[in-house]
Parts: sequence; C-alpha cells; structure tokens
Amino acid sequence: MRPDTPADHITEAERLLRTAAQYPEDHEPLFLQAAAHLELAGDRARATGLYDQLLSAPPTDTANPYLVKALKAANLWEYGHEAEARAIIDGIRVAGPLQAAPWQIVAGTLEAHDELEAAHDVLQTALTLLLAPGEEVPYATQSLLTGRHRVRRLMGHDHDAWDELADALSTANVSLDELHDPKRLWSLGSSDPGELKAEITRLRAELGTYRAALSRPFPVAVLHWPEAELAELLDAYPSLADEEYTTHTEHLARLEAALRDLHAGGTPNLGIVAGTVPSYEAFAASEAASPADPNLLPQYATTLAARGRAIPWPPARSAACWCGSGRAYRECHGVA
Ligand SMILES: [Zn+2]
Ligand SMILES: [Zn+2]
Repeated sequence: MRPDTPADHITEAERLLRTAAQYPEDHEPLFLQAAAHLELAGDRARATGLYDQLLSAPPTDTANPYLVKALKAANLWEYGHEAEARAIIDGIRVAGPLQAAPWQIVAGTLEAHDELEAAHDVLQTALTLLLAPGEEVPYATQSLLTGRHRVRRLMGHDHDAWDELADALSTANVSLDELHDPKRLWSLGSSDPGELKAEITRLRAELGTYRAALSRPFPVAVLHWPEAELAELLDAYPSLADEEYTTHTEHLARLEAALRDLHAGGTPNLGIVAGTVPSYEAFAASEAASPADPNLLPQYATTLAARGRAIPWPPARSAACWCGSGRAYRECHGVA
C-alpha cells in the first residue's frame, strides 16, 4: 500500500512506531521513516519530537546523528523555525560528516529555499570530503554530484571537471544538461508563462523526490532468500512456490532483473533484504496471518526494510555481490 492522504500517513507512522516498540534495536530507521510520514501528513511538530528523541539518546546509540540533525533542520525550516534550522545546518557543516546523506539533505533544504550559493558551498565541501580521486564514485556520492550540477546550471556557472563527471555518470535517458538547463526555467524569450511554471514545478518535483527518498531509507526493497532458507520455506509452505520462487538460481536472477527494472524506471533508494524462515514466521504471527499467504511476502520485505535491514543496491562494481557468492558484483549478478 502506498499512503496518499494525511490520514494514511498518520496510520503508517503509527504502525512503524508500533514496530519500533517491538524491535527496539531497529528503532532508529523506524523513527526516521515514521517522522517522514508525519511530515507528509503535515504534523511537523510531532516529527520534530521523533528527531529529538533520537538525538537525546547517548551518541553511541544513534547510528546516523548527522542525518537525523539534517532531517530535523529540513523539517524545522518548513514550519517557521528558520533560525534554528540554520544553526543546525551550520553545526553539520563544521562537523563535516563522512556520509553523503546528511549533506544531500542540507543542500536540498538550502536549494528549496532558493539559497543556491549556500547549497553550492555545501555540495563543494561534501564532495571534497567524499570523492576519492581515481576511485569508483559510490551511488550516494553520485547524487551529490548531480545536485551540484543542477545548482551550477541554475547559477549559470560553466562546467568544471566535476560537472563532466556528473554528466558521465548519469544514466538518465535525458542528459543532465537538458534536464538542468536554466533556459528551460528562466528563458526570457518564453512567451508562455504556463510553460515556464510547468518547468519550475517539474524541477521542484525532482528535488522533492530526492528529499522524500532520502528521508525514508530504502523505501523499495526486494526480498532475497538465501539458498537454505528458500528450500526450507518452500518445503514448509509449498503454496508460496511460483515463477519467482522456484530454483534458487532463478530466484536470484529475478531479483537482479526486478531491481534493474526499478532502477531504469527512476526509482531511487533501492535495497535488498534477506529473509529467514523463523523471522518470517514471527512476522506472520505478529500480523495474525498465515505464512502460507503469498500476499504477506511484500509486507514482510517492507517491514524488514523499515527496520533498517536493507543493504543498498546496486553495490559498487568491484564490491562483493549482494547474493553472497563471494565474487565481485561485476563478475556475478552485475554482469552486463
Ligand atoms: Zn553537464
Ligand atoms: Zn551474485
């Protein structure tokens, strides 16, 4: 189910908070996702309350304190607490975290409030920290390069080496230069204000998608059953066997294909969660449902992802494949 109305978002937030009570060790990703739903429902004050709860825990208990701070700042700025938001953002910039996500949220927040110069500075600082010359650019860092490319186009800067890198890494079917062309936004010659407005809306939506996706870690995760678990699952619940759940080899191939389809369709933040029969049975029991019901599988995957159990996909080409074969992704399921 994809929540759409404010009431749906509140219901989903409540469900995630109940899951957090059930799995306290996974409360951080569940809180972040619940807060995102509260923001979407317009209950920004309650979302701030969740961020504060995470930030008041001992530092060792919070896995991503800078991400939580960045999300809190983005949320505060949206409901009239600009000064507080700016103070948090300044703190993050000074601290210089080595993860891409907090920088992405900070830059996106500044850009959303038309502070292009500051957004550019933030992306510059982040990439200086995170880009290692000559090494493969991780997927999360790539979105910082893309954001910087967009901001620089809006500011009218010429391309530099990082812009060229952004262009080279882009796999979208429209080139970044076309997508980020400020003339599409501000073309003085355009006599059609409606057209101009549509472009602005489109670019805003692009930015909105990034922020929404990042504030909800791994919203789309596919379910991977390791070989022994798949055998045990189909043995215990033969009704689950279908074209996707047949042989283990076929199961793995279909997962990779499904992820590539989602990726090509522009779905950001993809991940893989690994299922085990005991945890699946426990989940079924908590939902008062039968494990033999195939409709339960996507809910199980969503819940594992919300608990922060997803590993991001795609892996780096040279990193170990997600399937656990021990081979590099490019020589295993990442083979072109
Ligand atoms: Zn370009
Ligand atoms: Zn593999």
